[in-house]
Formats: sequence, C-alpha cells, structure tokens
Amino acid sequence: NRVISPVAGLDELMTEEKIRPQYLSDYVGQPVVREQMEIFIPAAKARGEALDHVLIFGPPGLGKTTLSHIIANELGANLRQTSGPVLEKAGDLAALLTNLEPHDVLFVDEIHRLSPVVEEILYPAMEDFQLDIMIGEGPAARSIKLDLPPFTLVGATTRAGLLTSPLRDRFGIVQRLEFYNVPDLQYIVTRAAGILGVQIDDGGAYEVARRARGTPRIANRLLRRVRDYAQVKADGMINASIADQALNMLNVDQQGFDHMDRRLLLAVLEKFEGGPVGIDNIAAAIGEERGTIEDVLEPYLIQQGYLMRTPRGRMATRLAWDHFSLSMPDQTT
Ligand code: ADP
Repeated sequence: NRVISPVAGLDELMTEEKIRPQYLSDYVGQPVVREQMEIFIPAAKARGEALDHVLIFGPPGLGKTTLSHIIANELGANLRQTSGPVLEKAGDLAALLTNLEPHDVLFVDEIHRLSPVVEEILYPAMEDFQLDIMIGEGPAARSIKLDLPPFTLVGATTRAGLLTSPLRDRFGIVQRLEFYNVPDLQYIVTRAAGILGVQIDDGGAYEVARRARGTPRIANRLLRRVRDYAQVKADGMINASIADQALNMLNVDQQGFDHMDRRLLLAVLEKFEGGPVGIDNIAAAIGEERGTIEDVLEPYLIQQGYLMRTPRGRMATRLAWDHFSLSMPDQTT
C-alpha cells in the first residue's frame, strides 16, 4: 500500500475514469507521442483505413490506458479492453476479435503476458485480419479461417524488451512514454483539482507535482490525500506549505521518494557498498520481487540519476550517497 505506487488501487479506478483525458488536446506532456499521433490518426481516418497497430510502452501510471482511450475517441471508434493474463485460451481472443466492428480499437494491457497459443492467433489477425483457429480435438479437429474486420490493436507493456520479437515486429507504430516534467504534472494536478472541486493554488500544485515521481497517477493520488489533510488541518485550501506538511506526513520525501525507494537505495549503499550489485541480490535484500523492482521502483531512480544500470549490476551514484548524507567511498583506493 504505497501512497506513491504507480499501480492503480481498485478504489481509485472510478476517480481515474472521471479525470482521464479524452482527447489528444487534453493529453499533457509526451510531446513526441502527441505530435506523431496528431498526424497518424487523421491520416488513417482520411484514407478510411484502420490505424496501424500501436505498441505503447512505459512504466505504470504514465498514461498507456489513457492513450488507448484517446486513440479510440479520436478515431470515433469503439474501444474494447482486455489484458494479456486474462486471455488464457485461443478462444478467448477469438471471441473478442469476431465481435469487433470495422476500425475498432482493441486494447490489450500487459501484452507481454499473452500465452504463446494466444499470441499465435494474434499474428495473422494483426497482419491480414484473418482468424486462423483450430476447433475440436483429435482426429475430428479442423482448422477454420475467418475474415476479421480491419481493426487497430493497441498493446501496452511496461518494458518493450519483454515482448517476443515476432509480436513487436507487427506493430506499425511504437510509442515510448517518458516520465513527466514538473510543469506538465503541475498542469495535470490543477486540471484534476478543477474536475474534483479541490481548491489548490499554484504553489500547492507545484509541491504535489514536484513530489509525484514523474507520474500522473501518483500526482492525482497525492492530490486526493493532500486534499484530506487540508480539509482536516486547515480550511480546505491547498497551498505549498499545506502540501509540504501533508506529504511529509505521508512519508513522501523532498525528492518524492517513499519508504520503498529509500529501502532500495539504502540497501545498495549500505549492504553492497554502493554496488555494482545484481538485481536478484537487491530483491533478496529488500524482500521485493525482481519484476517489481525492474518495472516499478528503479525506472524513476535511474531516470533521476540516483541509480545506474551497468553490465555488472546496479550502482548507486553520488546523488544517492548525498541524499542520505553518507560519504561515498573513495573509488580510487
Ligand atoms: P497506465 O495505463 O500507463 O498505467 P493510465 O493511462 O491509467 O496509466 O494513467 C493513470 C492516470 O493518470 C489516468 O487516470 C489519468 O487521469 C492520468 N494521466 C495519464 N496520462 C496523462 C496525461 N498525459 N495527461 C493528463 N493526465 C494523465
């Protein structure tokens, strides 16, 4: 239950729907993605074709699901949503595909977790809009081919490297989402506050944005927790000082790190003398899964320059030593 977990809790899905941007014009940040999609989408529409399949990758909470909604809205098409682990059998995917209307968008979250049998079905579906499926078993089994309507597959994954290359090769458009800068997050916080009826001034929005780990989902969640604090401890108005007090109470430090970030960094610094140390050793030292470290914890620490990925393992940088006021061992001795 991290207050800065970039993964959505069940309780916040409803709020997220309310504040999710619906069109590219509301999609803040990600200038490269936006510029490209502002060309690709109208071009496909003008040709009367389905948009090429889109692969979106980036850490959780950066706007992959949001972008898939936006693509469908901009195309004026329906959005069907599913996820890799949900599609267990070939028939699960076949049922979805045969129910699509022309130019619909099929969003597959966690697409790296598709089972190999389902992935096999997806190849001809993506390439030729053909469904090629076996029905029955044993001697009575036969294969049937069905034409599918032209559709757009939007796949999301936390890391592009997790995808098999035949799958990755079938996406015509590949978008990589980056962590957001503070002004963009400040805009996102102010916009969400407007929708949720939260009073916040520029200083308050700046403080929340600055400590949101570059992630819109975290910014929106911190806004809701800071709102609670402002309501109980002040008159409901969020300014810089209220935001600071609330975030300190939530154990989100000045860099936006929480106890998990600090544990990871401190383990590398204190148990492994700053590294290099293998990811499995870090996982064992802090009792966290390797996948969570790679997908959720370390991308931001690396992007902010606290941790480095080297061929021999992870290494803490000078920033990390300084953050905890520890002195960096002399590398030359
Ligand atoms: P992901 O699918 O990458 O985990 P989401 O698309 O669900 O992330 O985004 C989480 C929340 O963050 C959304 O509910 C939305 O309100 C907000 N958000 C994401 N990207 C943006 C953006 N570019 N502009 C404004 N809000 C955003």
